[in-house]
Amino acid sequence: MDCLFCNIASGKIPSKKVYEDDLCYAFYDIDPQAPTHFLVIPKAHIASVSAVTPENEAVVGHMFSVIAKLAQELGLDSYRVVSNIGEQAGQSVFHLHFHVLSGRDMTWPPG
Ligand code: AMP
Ligand code: ZN
Repeated sequence: MDCLFCNIASGKIPSKKVYEDDLCYAFYDIDPQAPTHFLVIPKAHIASVSAVTPENEAVVGHMFSVIAKLAQELGLDSYRVVSNIGEQAGQSVFHLHFHVLSGRDMTWPPG
């Protein structure tokens, strides 16, 4: 399977790295929607939140502790974490990712 984010996580496709460990990879979005906009992905392929199961859920908790740590390190005191699931919700890459957006006023509800 040729997956863009699997190729980014493995370094086959270059990206602007924010953070990496054995389980996950974080990098700046190529089309930022806020002054700070990065993505956190698991290294192992998971298609979206809808493919999270008891077998792979640990990496999701880990990704959230990484988000909290990175936000602290980057000095983000207010930010939004978003995951789009399915085309109607705006998912365009079918490898689980959490968007972290910060640095501007946000509206609610999201569009
Ligand atoms: P989504 O549309 O929620 O699936 O999010 C996919 C995100 O990946 C979008 O915000 C894109 O701008 C971003 N993206 C696509 N290709 C790349 C890339 N090569 N490097 C960094 N971000 C990318
Ligand atoms: Zn993948």
